[in-house]
Amino acid sequence: MIADVAFDAPVAHPFSYLVPEGWTLAPGQRVLAPLRGAQRVGMVVALRAGDDASLKPLGRVADPEPVLSPAQLDLVGWISAESLSSIGSTCAALLPPPARSGSVSFPARRSPRPSPAPKPELFTGAGRETRALERIERTDGTVLVLAPDVETSARWAQRLAKLGPAVRLDSGVGDEARAAAWRALGEGTARLATGTRSALLAPLVAPATLVLVDEHEAAHRPPGHPRIHAREVVLERARREGAQVLLTSATPSVETWWRADAGRLTAATAPPGPWPAVALADTRGILRREPLTPPLARAIRETLAAKRRVFLAVSRLTSSLACDECGEVLRCETCRLALSYSRAAATLTCRVCGRSQPLPDTCPSCHGRRLSPFGWGAERVEHAVRRRFPDARIARYDPEAARGARGEAQRRAAAAADVVVGTRGALRLFGPASLGLAGFVSPDQLLRIPDFRAGERALAFLWAAAERVGAGGQLIVQSQHPTHYAFDAAARQDLAGFYTHELKFRAELGYPPFRRLAIVGVRGSAPAETQKLAERVGAALGATPELTVYPPAPDRRDRGRRIVVKGKADLPRLLAAALAGFREGAAARRGIIDVEVDPIEWPF
Ligand SMILES: [Zn+2]
Ligand SMILES: [Zn+2]
Repeated sequence: MIADVAFDAPVAHPFSYLVPEGWTLAPGQRVLAPLRGAQRVGMVVALRAGDDASLKPLGRVADPEPVLSPAQLDLVGWISAESLSSIGSTCAALLPPPARSGSVSFPARRSPRPSPAPKPELFTGAGRETRALERIERTDGTVLVLAPDVETSARWAQRLAKLGPAVRLDSGVGDEARAAAWRALGEGTARLATGTRSALLAPLVAPATLVLVDEHEAAHRPPGHPRIHAREVVLERARREGAQVLLTSATPSVETWWRADAGRLTAATAPPGPWPAVALADTRGILRREPLTPPLARAIRETLAAKRRVFLAVSRLTSSLACDECGEVLRCETCRLALSYSRAAATLTCRVCGRSQPLPDTCPSCHGRRLSPFGWGAERVEHAVRRRFPDARIARYDPEAARGARGEAQRRAAAAADVVVGTRGALRLFGPASLGLAGFVSPDQLLRIPDFRAGERALAFLWAAAERVGAGGQLIVQSQHPTHYAFDAAARQDLAGFYTHELKFRAELGYPPFRRLAIVGVRGSAPAETQKLAERVGAALGATPELTVYPPAPDRRDRGRRIVVKGKADLPRLLAAALAGFREGAAARRGIIDVEVDPIEWPF
């Protein structure tokens, strides 16, 4: 008997081994097998008869029983094909480690034939989590809540505990407890569970409900394999298993809103919730030497006097150029994305089509002469606030930039401060309606990010801040584009208005959800090799008429080349076919080809 085993390695194909006499083994079970001189954990994907005389034998069984049912193994195959990640890497990321002793197993129950899945439901607006919880309360099957991070998972575990015993599958509890929770779900002795992305494949006894909290969050698609958003896996899994999906989001992803528009999911609307007074401070034509306009400075003073807290939103400086006079951002004429500015090369480059141009002398819109990568960094804003409000407790917090002990110290200081100067992640410090004022110092920086999701991101940040201010407080937006539809939507608490504009823009330029995008990264052993390989890869992709392939362009650090590819729903399949010759054998040794399908953040 031959076992085909997939390993956590960037190799698409499984390896074949001899199954020793007397073993009982099934697909979906993990084994230890020799690979490049060591015993490594791999997933048995198939068992077959054949000539096994020349094969190495398997080492030992790692799971006493299969950890994946045949249906789940098939879902893993789908994830792998959609994300161009290997089956082994997908299993390694989405399954708990094999039990050390034989005492704990993760039985994968065979489910009865699934009935058609009900339509997924989307919860937005005020009280969305309470409404989702009430909806959960009305179901009588298994419920798995998937959160973007461990803290949110813990919070949901507390909520679920009001409905009955709830188990946790995230790293906030110990390995033993996680393993026991996985087992209890599979056996049907646990009915309510929370977890993060690593719980996506947890066994669920039908009828099941899958809840994805904050479905728009980028944290649902962290770096590393498999490169796929948890939302896509949840929807596919539910479709296969006949499960109910509930999505919650303050600002749904454009993809999700579009599905709701098309009637593919039901949007549970809510009346408008408490909202702050929103003021848009026009900074056009004002040469700013000072990050706080008079309205914002006044609002800070009033808020501190009322003993309420202030959040000043900042973002990292981007590499694009804009006119200081009229606010015009220099964009690619065809792709409409902000051009990326290289000071060293004195050029502007489009990150989609790769076209490069010299710096213009004047603004194409008002002929002004001040074009700059203008923006306010967190440090300069902090200094300015200190100068004006010397008695206030002021802290700066960017959880993505400061991790470990330094990050914890920053977090503690920010939690006790009157004024927090922070990035979007810093909003996690504040509960609903806990702020007196949120000020966006230069949110134009958010719109200048050379990413087609720039508007969506800006809206999400503004909306999250507004919810943390609530009624009775203020939201102040300082912008050279005060009429931008993202700002307008936040000011009027009008989600639909935003998506109408955004979907039009995406449709006209052929961005998701209307087309799918992929970035093919290429690196050879030396710069000349990289260029040659990139040209060959580009030509191979270009031979597929259904794909739109842009010319290879240098990546951010100029170490490799990247090729942007656009296609339709079958993009992953076409990419895999076009690149098959480059990813195996001798060709694979000449360079690294890395494919990111549906990238959520431009990695350059
Ligand atoms: Zn372009
Ligand atoms: Zn201008």
